[in-house]
Amino acid sequence: MANANYNPYETAVSHVERVGKMMGMERDMIEMLKVPRRELTVHMPVKMDDGSVRMFTGFRVQHNSARGPCKGGIRYHPNVTLDEVKALAMWMTWKCTVVGIPFGGAKGGVICNPKEMSKNELERMTRRYASDIYSFIGPQTDIPAPDVYTDAQTMAWIMDTIAMHEGSATPQVVTGKPVELGGSIGRDEATSRGLMYIAAEAAKTKVMPVRGASVAIQGYGNVGGNAARLMANELGTKIIALSDSHGGIYNKDGLELSKVDRFKRDTGSLTNFPGAKNITNEELLELQCDFLVPAALENVINDKNADRIAAKIVVEGANGPTTPKADEVLLQKKIMVVPDILSNAGGVTVSYFEWVQDLQFFFWTLDEVNERLRQVMTSAYGKVRTLADHKEVDMRTAADMIAMGDVARAVQLRGIFP
Ligand code: NAD
Repeated sequence: MANANYNPYETAVSHVERVGKMMGMERDMIEMLKVPRRELTVHMPVKMDDGSVRMFTGFRVQHNSARGPCKGGIRYHPNVTLDEVKALAMWMTWKCTVVGIPFGGAKGGVICNPKEMSKNELERMTRRYASDIYSFIGPQTDIPAPDVYTDAQTMAWIMDTIAMHEGSATPQVVTGKPVELGGSIGRDEATSRGLMYIAAEAAKTKVMPVRGASVAIQGYGNVGGNAARLMANELGTKIIALSDSHGGIYNKDGLELSKVDRFKRDTGSLTNFPGAKNITNEELLELQCDFLVPAALENVINDKNADRIAAKIVVEGANGPTTPKADEVLLQKKIMVVPDILSNAGGVTVSYFEWVQDLQFFFWTLDEVNERLRQVMTSAYGKVRTLADHKEVDMRTAADMIAMGDVARAVQLRGIFP
């Protein structure tokens, strides 16, 4: 999904350089944190339904395991690149650290267009990919999860493939599985639930009422769709704009989500939803609103549109939606940005809960999951906000400082082998 004009890995590295220098971190440590520990590329032959064999390329990258096993999703998309996966793996390291869960960061991706593949083709490709990365992953080394265009079914196929290799059930090898296979209740909406808790905290910081606040959300998938529902139902906000890959819809008085869902299910897109105006994804980002939630792609808020962003608070659902140049502009405009590694960390947090439950073969109730998630998210928000105030920096810088500082300390305590 990398946007040809921006390289997410360069963005990720530029943050490490900038924040490392601000923190007075030693050059050796900065260099260590800038690169992933391990990168695997696999080229996979897959039998297609028409009898032909097509080659697919996949990646798995582990950024840092100083604080624990690596953890991160798998993305299926035609524009996946190794650099994108490297950036996402690094962001996973910071994300796990900022919310204080004992994981390092990893990410995977396969260059493919799942929209043009049958379920059988997707299953064969997924099983081949799982098999090819089998020796690289494991419950104590690297635990995959869903990301863009992968879901609980994808995780079930991966889990089953690993179980076939191991000769035993290994539910702890992936998270985001179906609940019937050892998945955690609450995982499907956890990223959005975490984001909702963070949005509520951000409104308190801004001394802004959350009930009735207007919300524009880019991306109506797992993160964006659930965020819309939870922010409307549990916070009482008004969802004024939504979008998917085809475009967006806008109604300043609010969109009725049950009708939007039905329309999207029936037509396959949001466009032409009755009672709303069609808008482009670009226009959605520039709407006057209280909360803007980019929940689709990287680099969508960039030097070309940052000066036109009119939200009071940007809560990043997607990974890396704001470029460093845009960050500077938003800071000048006094728009509060809650960074991805904090605001979308709810998914990996409940993935961690899932892994813990699988290791113990003992499962929690939905209330237990949600309450523990709330505690993790609000406490992480408090830590980041306090440091941001104390150091007089934006929240992304503060979150990076916490994450990089903790990872650097873990690296130092372990020492360099041999
Ligand atoms: P998803 O596949 O469920 O949904 C993606 C949404 O983005 C879909 O509505 C799709 O139509 C839309 N989209 C695709 N191309 C678009 C375009 N060009 N313009 C506008 N919208 C477009 O994916 P997801 O799991 O919701 O992930 C969305 C983002 O959130 C990604 O950046 C992902 O890395 C991040 N994220 C996901 C999770 C998770 O638990 N799923 C956790 C943390 C971060």
